Amino acid sequence: MFSPTPLMDDELYLEPSERFISRIGILTSGGDSQGMNAALRAVVRAGLHAGLQVYAISEGYQGMVQGGASIRRMAWHHVGGIMQHGGTFIGSARSSEFYTRPGRRQAALNLLRHGIEGLVVIGGDGSLTGANLFQQEWRVLLHELVQEGQLTQAEADAHPYIGLVGMVGSIDNDMFGSDMTIGADTALHRIVEAVDSIASTATSHQRTFIVEVMGRNCGYLALMASLATGANWVLIPENPPEQGWEDAMCEIIRAGRGTGRRHSIIIIAEGAIDRSGKLITSDYVRQVLTQRLREDTRVTILGHVQRGGAPSAFDRTMPTLLGYAAVRQLLRSAPGSEPQLIGMRNNRIRISPLMENIRKTQRVAELIKEQRYEQAMEMRGRGFVEAYQILRTLLRAQPRPPQSGQRQLRLLIMHADGPAPGMNTAVRAAVRLGLDKGHTMLAARDGISGLAQGDLAEIKWTDVHGWVSRGGAELGANRHATQAHEYALIAEHLRAQRVDGLLIIGGEMGYRFAYELHERRELFAEFKLPIICLPASINNDLPGTEVTIGADTALNTIQNNLDKLKEAALAARRCFVAEVMGYDCGYLALMAGLATGAERVYIPEEGITLDDLRRTVDLLVKGFQNGKRVGLIVRSERADLYYTTDFVATLLEREGGGELSVRRMILGNTQQGGRPSPYDRIQATRLAAKALDFLIQQILQGESGIGGIGRWEGKIQYTDLRDLPALMQPNAQRPRIQPWLNLRRVAQAMAEEPA
Ligand code: ADP
Repeated sequence: MFSPTPLMDDELYLEPSERFISRIGILTSGGDSQGMNAALRAVVRAGLHAGLQVYAISEGYQGMVQGGASIRRMAWHHVGGIMQHGGTFIGSARSSEFYTRPGRRQAALNLLRHGIEGLVVIGGDGSLTGANLFQQEWRVLLHELVQEGQLTQAEADAHPYIGLVGMVGSIDNDMFGSDMTIGADTALHRIVEAVDSIASTATSHQRTFIVEVMGRNCGYLALMASLATGANWVLIPENPPEQGWEDAMCEIIRAGRGTGRRHSIIIIAEGAIDRSGKLITSDYVRQVLTQRLREDTRVTILGHVQRGGAPSAFDRTMPTLLGYAAVRQLLRSAPGSEPQLIGMRNNRIRISPLMENIRKTQRVAELIKEQRYEQAMEMRGRGFVEAYQILRTLLRAQPRPPQSGQRQLRLLIMHADGPAPGMNTAVRAAVRLGLDKGHTMLAARDGISGLAQGDLAEIKWTDVHGWVSRGGAELGANRHATQAHEYALIAEHLRAQRVDGLLIIGGEMGYRFAYELHERRELFAEFKLPIICLPASINNDLPGTEVTIGADTALNTIQNNLDKLKEAALAARRCFVAEVMGYDCGYLALMAGLATGAERVYIPEEGITLDDLRRTVDLLVKGFQNGKRVGLIVRSERADLYYTTDFVATLLEREGGGELSVRRMILGNTQQGGRPSPYDRIQATRLAAKALDFLIQQILQGESGIGGIGRWEGKIQYTDLRDLPALMQPNAQRPRIQPWLNLRRVAQAMAEEPA
């Protein structure tokens, strides 16, 4: 649920005299997870940039204990072409020997023989606990080795410490100190794909499906998957259902059938329990439903599918940034200092004491065992609790009846600007949450032009059934610049429909439309109403938010296409120049470049210079001469007015001196389509809930502001849009502040081998 744009703020390279170590080792341990390869690649490449020697230790601690060929020095090209694969390229294992003192002693000796002075460990809390123990014992282990005669005192004295940083590789997202663990987003992709598929067959047969997902102590996957798929019931370990939950569940399923819903989905975490701490199995749930509802009920246990497949875009970009930060941290931490966890918090890299995080993580499991569920939920954080509350409303079959005496508002929802994946999800959430609060929800068709023509009507709970996962925009979304005569028409329809507040789910045109209405409020009293904009655009080009709905889906679409392109190019030893969307904003291009390992990314924020093109030709020619088989340049559609995609491709081929065979590819409108990614669905739902709260609050307080809802540093915030022109770049469709631009440095470090 976190946007892939953490900030990096300082340089990687330190002079040899400034750094504490010169050789580092990296290993992946415990259960594997998608994205471990991206982390490995980043550590190796950032390490080489920092002037370090990097050693990969294969098969986790087992390789460390074995030594020999299990510890290999890594070169730049060793980690080329691995990022798109799931699992871990250097293997992961469980090691019983590492639990023992002699095992760890042997491991220490092996590290010492290679001169390794710092370790990067990627694994779950078990692996990280082991690493911490190893680091603490280091001196004693060396002392014992000296006593055994395996080491001289002088050798031991030369290496009094081993540095340690950890990263969490776990699909469960169960670690304190990081909002997301490496692999959790991809696991969510797998689950959501599976549930979407199950939903379609369930619909055909009017069936109920119970889907069991991983998560022994953590309900993250179950909860977020439920939110993202519109599941009808969820069972998680942190918040066991009240006694008699079986009745409540059956009632919801029965009522859903009553409203014409053709399928029901129940998602259960493998560690789900009841209030007394007893495991709730998926089979038990099936029995309950079969007996009480006499329904055809099936169970699907997703199992290892969740660990498999290509990592999502997020699970390539985030581990890349974490790996980069891990090396930086190792370089800078003083000898003997406390090991740190490299994680993400509020959309920023966060470095915090490793053991403290592990203790807190284990504390949640203890709280669950002690049946102190409220505290367990609290420790999962605000986002988790909020998501749970939203889900409780959305899974209902009908809205609750309005409270007596409550003011019933009339709220209008519309789109403006082109379609973005996640728009339907946002509309569905807004409609249902609004109805549940007792208000009347209206929807305009076909955006601004539809509104001007009076194409608006009430929208009901069941009208948005199934919208959670649908791509495109069911209400219609188009790029339409408001015509002067349309304002009067719009005013008329707002008055006729007695609209109290307006929710615009759209892109830059939607934001501008809100602004224009506000500017004309003296001309048309109807425009004196609160307007909230919910950022939905694949371009990620809106102010007041670090991420827009749709961008994550587009990024994954681009990534899938570029992966295929690279495969084809690999076979034929080719370069590709790929053009991606983004209008005046280079976000998609840069993030896609980071996620696919592009050699160079061209974005409008920087433009393209001839010097740079020359450097790129040199980089590619040198690469191909050294055995490279594929080159990828990503160019944002408006990176430069004159140096077009065709021009860049032609130039590379002409100037490549016969070394480069170049093809071009314009990805086009596929980037706007497709089912929304889990992240976009979750964000769309959460932002819609917040947008609605703001809108209602403003109406009840008699205010009539215009604002954008968004996420900034991980928090949901409201931005006053009366300042819209000042928030945007003059003469360009992108905001003034673009925190992700800082990631250019990382992208470049990953693509260019140091001299
Ligand atoms: P995860 O890291 O996914 O939680 P495990 O708990 O199985 O997976 O740990 C992986 C490996 O880490 C173990 O096989 C063992 O080698 C090492 N390890 C885990 N816990 C400890 C510990 N307390 N002391 C020493 N080594 C440990």
